[in-house]
Amino acid sequence: MRLATMIDIPAAGGVEAGRLERGLELEVRPLEPGRYHVSGGREQHWVDLRSPLVPRCDCGDHLWRERVCKHILAALLREGDERVIREVAALVAGLRAQVRSLAVRPRPRRGRGRVDPAGAAGRIETVRRS
Ligand SMILES: [Zn+2]
Repeated sequence: MRLATMIDIPAAGGVEAGRLERGLELEVRPLEPGRYHVSGGREQHWVDLRSPLVPRCDCGDHLWRERVCKHILAALLREGDERVIREVAALVAGLRAQVRSLAVRPRPRRGRGRVDPAGAAGRIETVRRS
């Protein structure tokens, strides 16, 4: 039986792209339904997505800043949380847009549209001499 995830992501400040990106790199091991051991960062942490009686993650980012930390995001991804999956899609779309804006466009070639057989032969000659 799938239990409802109780975390209110918008109330906790939403999903921050940097945390999401770092969460993608973490290793998440399920302990029992809704509870995970998260490693791969500087420290290991325990995430509880179900119980409203305990903190959802024992890291400082969640406890002190009250944010949806990378460990919670990693656990929500392993649960297939649609909200977080949509944020991954938005992250990828943003990265694709950045890559497109940085892409090197080919420079126009000299004599574009004209064939110059003498020029091509001259280049071949240069290669043969060297
Ligand atoms: Zn955390």
